[in-house]
Parts: sequence; structure tokens; C-alpha cells
Amino acid sequence: MTPPVASQATSLRRFGAATWRPTALVVGAALATIAVLPAAALAQLDTTEDLMRRLTEAPGPPAFEEEVRRIVADEMEALGATVQYDGLGSVHATLPGNGNGPRIMVTAHMDEVGLMVQHITADGFIRVKNLGGFLGHAYPDQRWTILGRDGPVMGVSGLPTVHVSTGAQRTQVWSVDQVFLDVGATSRAEVEAMGIRPGDGIAPWSPFAVLANKRYAAKGWDDRVGIAVMIAAARRIRSEGIDLPGDVVWVMTTQEEIGLRGAAVAVDFADPDIGISIEAGVSADYPGIGPTQAQERLGGGPGIFLLDSSMIPNRKFRDFFFDVAEESGISLQADVLTGYGEDGAEIQRYDSGRPAVNMTVPSNS
Ligand SMILES: [Zn+2]
Repeated sequence: MTPPVASQATSLRRFGAATWRPTALVVGAALATIAVLPAAALAQLDTTEDLMRRLTEAPGPPAFEEEVRRIVADEMEALGATVQYDGLGSVHATLPGNGNGPRIMVTAHMDEVGLMVQHITADGFIRVKNLGGFLGHAYPDQRWTILGRDGPVMGVSGLPTVHVSTGAQRTQVWSVDQVFLDVGATSRAEVEAMGIRPGDGIAPWSPFAVLANKRYAAKGWDDRVGIAVMIAAARRIRSEGIDLPGDVVWVMTTQEEIGLRGAAVAVDFADPDIGISIEAGVSADYPGIGPTQAQERLGGGPGIFLLDSSMIPNRKFRDFFFDVAEESGISLQADVLTGYGEDGAEIQRYDSGRPAVNMTVPSNS
């Protein structure tokens, strides 16, 4: 590759403003027009789809959730919720009840799996470490948003071309230590001049798209889809004037992907009597996944975990959800899986223990 000269690299690869505006990218005309939904398609999105687009396109690796936080705080304040923040940056939006019910913590996490700038090489490439669990298969040949001090910068995870790769290299799964991001710079000084430093967060760059059968593709479904469910539920409570028996605290947590760290302190701030985590599930109707790994199916209704790596839910509370679903004619899918932790576990372990469940939106994320 022949990188462009410094001035071109900077103007082409920097998104421009400190505020992330996915529809106004000036990354290079070809990229922007191919990757981002055209205006006509944007206009056809319904309210929930547009919410999902904004939430999933916002970059938010663990501890870098600002853009997501801005969206959810605006949405909750618009609904008249009391919005507060705890010391690790989780958002607590409270809709008051009439004093006749338990205090309910409903939670979803704002962060997504990402990377962090580890160091910048003398010839201008960026080495990284994981923020959360990434499959090695997903590292190379992707576009990424580097959250630099002067605003987002696009980088590409490069890999040696097929023309120089040996047979073994062509089938190799990359480790994070082999990954490098290319921002077009030719020196460490150029990268630093773009506002990039060790410790900056990095998120995948993947615009929202509508597929057939009203299925959607985007990055960050885990767990922006849970946040979208919470906002949609809060909107409905407000628009239908539903009288809540107990206070509902909608908690959008930070740093879930690196060990439920945001939720660990958010429960102290929220002080719930009971808790509901809302997460991205694992659809079994997908190539390579079967019922011995997961049991949910796309379009089969919401899911509820009976077991995950972090929690066995309170059985009476769990069965309450099945009873309500049956009475209401809602198809509720049970899921038993391992290799999966979620914020509900921190609610369960709060104080002397609290009933908690994990509800899911089936997805392949
Ligand atoms: Zn999650």
C-alpha cells in the first residue's frame, strides 16, 4: 500500500466533528455513499427502526459510551424521566410509581465489544488490545472508529495481501497481537497529529442496514437492542398513561463487556427490589448453531434465560414471566446456554440478594 501524503490522509480519514453524525460523514465520497443509508431509505424507517439505527451506529466500546449515553439521556428526558448518572457513567432514568409496588431496575448495557489503542508504531500503524471478547475471525479487514481526542478517526484493520501469503497464513485465525490498524499515516507523529493516543477506545464501523423480512444488520446489537426495548417500553408507558405501581428505574450501564463492571455499582445507586436485564439473545436458527448451544429463534418472540454463566434466575420470578406471557398470548422462548454473562447477575447479588431475570431479543450478534 502507498499511503497518501499527510494532509490528504488527515482530511480524508477524519470524520470531522467531535460529535458523531453518521449521516453526515465526509470520509471520501465513495465510502459515504455506499455504506450509509440513502435519504430515501432513511425516510422509510419507522420510529423504532430509526432509534435502532442511531443507537447501533454510535460508537461505544467499554468506558467510551459517551455517544450512546447522549442518545439515551435525551430520549429519557424527553419522556419526563428523572435522569441521573452514577460514578461509572451509567444512566439512571426514573419513572415514578404510585407507591404500591416494588422498586424495579430494568437494565441494558450501552457498551459494545471493541478495542483500545495499545501503542503506535514508528511507521504509523496502531497496535491494539481487546475491550471485551472478540472472535479472532472478526479482526482483520474491517473498518473501525478510533475515538481520538479531536474526534472520531477511521482506521482499517489491515492484513497481508493474498499475493504474499503462504498457504498456512491464508487459513490462519488472527490473534489480537497480530492486528494493526491503518489510518493512512506514515509515522507516529502523523497519527498523534490526528488526535490518537494510547488508551483511546475503538469500535467497529458498520452502518445500520435493513435486510429482507424486516431483519436488520448493524454492529452493537449487544446490547443496543436491549436499550431500544427499554426506550420503546418507556415511550409506551408515557403515551398510554400507564399507572406504574412501583418506581421503574431504567438503567443503561457501562462496561458490561469487560465483566459487568458498570452494573456492579449501578445496583447500589438504583437500590432495586427486583431486576430485569434485557439483552441480545443467541438465535439457534443460524448456520453452525443448534439447540445444544442455544434455543431461541428469530421471530419467535422474546426470550428468557433459564441459565447463563453468571446467573440462575429466581425461579418464582422466572415463572411469573411465563404466567404473564401465557395470560397475554405472548410467545416466550426459554434459553439455556453457557459462555454468556449479563448484568442481571449483579442485581441478583445486590445487598442480601434480589430476584432477577434476563430477558432477550433473539439475534445473531
Ligand atoms: Zn450484552
